[in-house]
Amino acid sequence: MQKITKLIAGVFCCAMVFSSSAYAVWLSDSQAIMGTSVTVELWADDEPQGQRAMQAVFTEMRRIDKAMNPWDEHSELAAINRQAAIAPVLISDELVQIINKALFYSQLSEGAFDISFASVSRFYNFRAGKKPSEQQRKAMQGAINYRNIQLDENAETLFFSDKRISIDLGGIAKGYAVDQGIALLAKHGITSAIVSAGGDSRILGDKHGKPWVMGIRHPRDKNKHALRIPLADTAISTSGDYERFFMEGDVRHHHIINPKTSYSAPAVQSVSVLANKAIDSDALSTTVFVLGVSKGLALINQLPGIDAIIIDGQGLLHCSDDLLMSQ
Ligand code: ADP
Ligand code: MG
Repeated sequence: MQKITKLIAGVFCCAMVFSSSAYAVWLSDSQAIMGTSVTVELWADDEPQGQRAMQAVFTEMRRIDKAMNPWDEHSELAAINRQAAIAPVLISDELVQIINKALFYSQLSEGAFDISFASVSRFYNFRAGKKPSEQQRKAMQGAINYRNIQLDENAETLFFSDKRISIDLGGIAKGYAVDQGIALLAKHGITSAIVSAGGDSRILGDKHGKPWVMGIRHPRDKNKHALRIPLADTAISTSGDYERFFMEGDVRHHHIINPKTSYSAPAVQSVSVLANKAIDSDALSTTVFVLGVSKGLALINQLPGIDAIIIDGQGLLHCSDDLLMSQ
């Protein structure tokens, strides 16, 4: 089982690691990019080379943000949203790859993951406590539907066959960016590192023979961890209903939308997914959040090499089969 090799059990304390030569160091830095905090931590045998590798990751993250931020009118994504319902639009290689992956997860989840959720979610403003009016919801009924996103991989074009569609890659782009960051570090000769963008992280190697210990946040207390897990060479993404939300009485309006209802998905509080790549853990954490415990675990249990930890609406923990077997 892949996750048994991924989960190096028994080590729950972070050890301070000291440099073995005068120039080898742990480097760590965080920057605000992609609407979240991007953190890079790495072991560098040579400090200047490590610094260069780290800066390369931040530069790449900023480039991706610039292309894929739907709120920036100059981004490639914003241009697509303006034009793709009029005629097929030529898109970049990397958007072909990301949208293709997004559509794959839409098909796999029968629409629980759907980048056209933005057709309705663009009327939310979580900071201002604003949600779509009933009139807006009615006008957008049926607009969230990935089947109307026509990707031609060979021609590298995108066409929306429903004029009301807007897309947003917020459920998958940070994972992609984290994978790009790890690939860059590996190219710079780094063998031990972690790259995180908000709730999406990927670990390269281990921490000098020991696992990295990742905390899964308690969904209702930001100062607590619900769980701490030792990991090496894997990606982990967490989706939670506490990231962007506002309360209206007892109803929590948050940023993960159930495409079938166009309202925030109500069943669970947090989902963490483990996979080899962060693009997969990111998309699947959002997907499983929408599907809820039983459908979500059924999906994860059919995917080799992928695991999930769900905290349900009552705060109870549920794990995919392979994680339970590795206890
Ligand atoms: P974040 O790391 O930003 O908290 P998550 O992985 O938890 O992201 O996913 C939530 C984000 O995914 C939302 O902010 C939104 O951009 C996007 N999203 C929300 N609902 C869906 C959905 N049903 N399908 C695809 N993407 C979604
Ligand atoms: Mg996600």
